[in-house]
Amino acid sequence: MKEVLAECRGAKVAYGDGESAVHALDGVDLTIAAQDSLALLGRSGSGKTTLLHVLGGLVEPTAGAVEWRGEPLATLDAAARAALRACGIGYVFQGGNLLTHFTAFENVAFATRVSSGDADPVLAAVALLELVGLTEKLDHLPAELSGGEAQRVAIARALAQRPQLLLCDEPTGHLDSDTGERVLDLLQAVQREFGFALVVATHDADVAARMERSVELHDGRVLSAQATV
Ligand code: ADP
Ligand code: MG
Repeated sequence: MKEVLAECRGAKVAYGDGESAVHALDGVDLTIAAQDSLALLGRSGSGKTTLLHVLGGLVEPTAGAVEWRGEPLATLDAAARAALRACGIGYVFQGGNLLTHFTAFENVAFATRVSSGDADPVLAAVALLELVGLTEKLDHLPAELSGGEAQRVAIARALAQRPQLLLCDEPTGHLDSDTGERVLDLLQAVQREFGFALVVATHDADVAARMERSVELHDGRVLSAQATV
């Protein structure tokens, strides 16, 4: 049995109260094991981003429980949660979320400086950008990168923390299909190299089919779960 990394049971998230409340998550059970490759598939508004935020400890569920390696997140104090985000769980946000006034190198170097594992944060940042094929673009600002290149920087930044779980929110959402394929190729190559569990939220069934299993969300509930063969 592979080690269970993250697990949520009966997770609910509501925005607002009473009649007008939006139930972004309405009782979700999900288990993510080490080295998993999982797609969260669903239309816009189905709750994918909210579920990623819950799994990553960025949003506390209004009901239900979330655990990280068997420990309820609700019992972790602020410092322990920050440590978890700094090293256990990596994020590639929708649209990349790079710091716009900083170069590709600086965006990654901020992360290698925060992560404790690297003796030399500068070398580590350069090595990660080389790994994602951006050696030529170290000094480029995000506005001077293509969508695919910006997404590669976001992936390099997330890898700086040596995550055990990498959560990617619509990593191909803003990309044409060829560029999207190459970003997925990269994600799967680095997953093989680093051995983390990969969770990709997507509205695209073709993207989901590249993962080993997929969980389909609809109105904040799990509609179906299946293994991809
Ligand atoms: P997806 O990522 O699948 O598009 P989201 O998790 O972003 O879905 O959103 C799920 C539902 O929750 C949607 O109806 C969305 O409008 C609502 N929602 C998300 N974030 C907020 C928020 N901060 N305030 C109010 N409603 C929100
Ligand atoms: Mg979303």
